Amino acid sequence: MSITPLMPVYPRCGVRPVRGEHCHLIDEDGTRYLDFASGIAVNLLGHSHEGLIGAIQRQAATLMHVSNLYGSPQGERLAQRLVDLTFADTVFFTNSGAEAVECAIKAARAYHSHVGNDDKFELITFKNAFHGRTMATISASNQEKMHKGFLPLLAGFKYAEFDDLESAKAQMGPHTAGFLVEPIQGEGGIRPASQEFMQGLRQLADEHDLMLVLDEVQCGVARTGKMYAYEHYGIEPDIMATAKGIGGGFPLGACLATEKAARGMVVGTHGSTYGGNPLAMAAGEAVIDAVANDEFLAEVTEKGERLRSRIEQFIGNYPELFDCVRGKGLMLGIKMKVESRPFFVHLRDNHQLLTVAAGDNTLRVLPPLVAGEAEFDEFIDKLSAGAADYDPSAAG
Ligand SMILES: *Cc1c(COP(=O)(O)O)cnc(C)c1O
Repeated sequence: MSITPLMPVYPRCGVRPVRGEHCHLIDEDGTRYLDFASGIAVNLLGHSHEGLIGAIQRQAATLMHVSNLYGSPQGERLAQRLVDLTFADTVFFTNSGAEAVECAIKAARAYHSHVGNDDKFELITFKNAFHGRTMATISASNQEKMHKGFLPLLAGFKYAEFDDLESAKAQMGPHTAGFLVEPIQGEGGIRPASQEFMQGLRQLADEHDLMLVLDEVQCGVARTGKMYAYEHYGIEPDIMATAKGIGGGFPLGACLATEKAARGMVVGTHGSTYGGNPLAMAAGEAVIDAVANDEFLAEVTEKGERLRSRIEQFIGNYPELFDCVRGKGLMLGIKMKVESRPFFVHLRDNHQLLTVAAGDNTLRVLPPLVAGEAEFDEFIDKLSAGAADYDPSAAG
């Protein structure tokens, strides 16, 4: 037998972390890595946050799981906090980002179906988007590399150009149910949508009674210096998916909706065995306790500006390698003039610096939000050393 016990769908590398300390990961053989990937925007509080650990330990010893057939004081508490912090009136808890997007897609369809408009089932999504790996969420993305081998796709998605309002308009028709969009594309290469685009989608949705569905799985939960990225745009969605950072490393996601948008999500229409279990709720509450306050959010903004300007200064030394920095808060991307993936491997294997490669030759810089000056110094040191001994023609 040559197949590995772990189904070989990931190109697993030689880094084999067994322990985490604040912003560092420690490998099986004791090597320390600076973690500016954060499990891909998951470990907001780093790897050994006492508040998060304590909350999980206490809840694990009290009650881990019960069925959603029972009342949930823990779920009601976290849902109420999310409702108070956002546009939403109601919350469905999931265990992952894709499930949160899945619920959002169902809610958008059910909104129209509930009043008899069963022909309004199509969501307009955007090129190079990433919404997850389930059948519905790969169907929501135009990326053919995710479709190969899995056809037929789920019907009901149309792809428009990202950040292009005219392209979105051109896809509208009698079946349109709404728009599904990442305000800042993550996997696509840290590409923030413009103010005009997001406000334009909101206006189109209002004019035509469509659902504006945001996928904030990567950009949400304080990452950009706001609780949710939509706050940067002066608009509110009808439905929103959140996950990744919201559990701080514990599997947790949620679909948030206004009362109006959730009108189709009535008893019996949706469910999840694990979704909203007390253990996940405790993790979510600990994360909200830590990040959902003006002081923490202002710190993220300020740290993001400092890190960004340091990276911008640095990349000026290597105009042949780097193009520009984009993103918001501590969701940053360095757009490269050479392929970003081999450089990310070089930083990882030769300089013990963990980042994430993304589309459009971008290097994602996603530090834990608790990173500070010492970690930024270490990051710039490693990045400088990595650029200095990098030979793009030899990499690959
Ligand atoms: C990661 C991600 C998802 C999928 O989340 P999973 O937890 O892997 O299912 C969906 N949307 C966006 C924008 C993401 O970054």
